[in-house]
Amino acid sequence: MPTTTPRAPGSTASLGTANQERVLAALRGGGAHTQAALARQTGLAPATVSNIVRGLAELGLVEVRSGSGRRGSSVRLARSAGLVAGVDFGHRHVSVAIADLTGDLLAQVRRPLAATHAHDSSLALATGLLDDLLADLGQPIARDQLRRIGMAVPAPVAGTVVRSAGILPGWREVDARAAAEEAFGCTVDVANDANLGALAEHRRGRARGTRSSVFVKLSSGVGAGIMVHDELFDGAHGTAGELGHLTLDESGPLCRCGGRGCLETYCSAENVLDLLADHLPAEATIDDAVAAGRSGDVAARRAFEDAGLHLGWGLAGLVNLLDPEVVVMGGDMARAGDLLLDAVRQGLRRHALDAVAQTPVLASELGERASLVGAVLLAAENTQLLDAPRPS
Ligand SMILES: [Zn+2]
Repeated sequence: MPTTTPRAPGSTASLGTANQERVLAALRGGGAHTQAALARQTGLAPATVSNIVRGLAELGLVEVRSGSGRRGSSVRLARSAGLVAGVDFGHRHVSVAIADLTGDLLAQVRRPLAATHAHDSSLALATGLLDDLLADLGQPIARDQLRRIGMAVPAPVAGTVVRSAGILPGWREVDARAAAEEAFGCTVDVANDANLGALAEHRRGRARGTRSSVFVKLSSGVGAGIMVHDELFDGAHGTAGELGHLTLDESGPLCRCGGRGCLETYCSAENVLDLLADHLPAEATIDDAVAAGRSGDVAARRAFEDAGLHLGWGLAGLVNLLDPEVVVMGGDMARAGDLLLDAVRQGLRRHALDAVAQTPVLASELGERASLVGAVLLAAENTQLLDAPRPS
């Protein structure tokens, strides 16, 4: 969701800035580029690229390394262009990372949280973790020197407010952006964790190279993030993709949202562990259930298959509507691999239209880092590197 720069259309200054933005956009994708490659990627003339690169280097935004032979010098985004941070709150963890503006993580840390964590104490913990990471960087910087911070929360986020009845009680109706900006002393962008997982898998993970993809985060809750035409689609209120609360059976089990027979009540990690209550020790985690299934435990295999079939059923509705190129499965449950995914594919084939029934369902590439990487990318993409041109 890059912010757009207001421009006076057609003015020389706006055209110059637009061309600079094109070069920067190519560099934000990461890595070193030759000027010839930048010209191809941006459609600008080589001489124009050369002028822009020189100007951006003077602003300290890009780094030019002279090369040898025909390949010439290489250009990359400079570290002096600034750093961003990502914070990912889960139901039971918080992860914090520092990254450069290409989204490459420089340092990261993950800590457990109580399931009922309150927003203020959790933000205080994240602030401490962030300060530790910043102090350990090769060239330490202060928190208020970060360009922006992206933050993921495991609940619907309408605008900047966490909308959750029973989903994330410690954050209910909290203006997460305002609370985080006060704690961090820095500009913060907030979004739902599944949406940020979708952004990360689309840009840097399993869905890279596609134009539209769906990411499903399957753990304590079930949420989806939707990328359409390379942009995150988050709906009119920012809450698109609440797949977990799709009704499969209106006389089904009660859901924590207050509804009945929601998809989540059939395929969350809690549901799988409830089904296996007589087969596994009381303190068993979803990883123990995965291990049991892999070692041939029939009940564990059945629990994952049932969860996957229900998920495939719900997903069929989403795939019929959106026709994504790929569905990426993340969250704790995705560690079950094909034990779960084969059943999801089967459920999808059974309930989706023929034209989309073979849509690939693949395991996440970024794993438990997906929402964290998405939070970093959100902050990096929202960071404006050039001042808007002054009206001429
Ligand atoms: Zn529900």
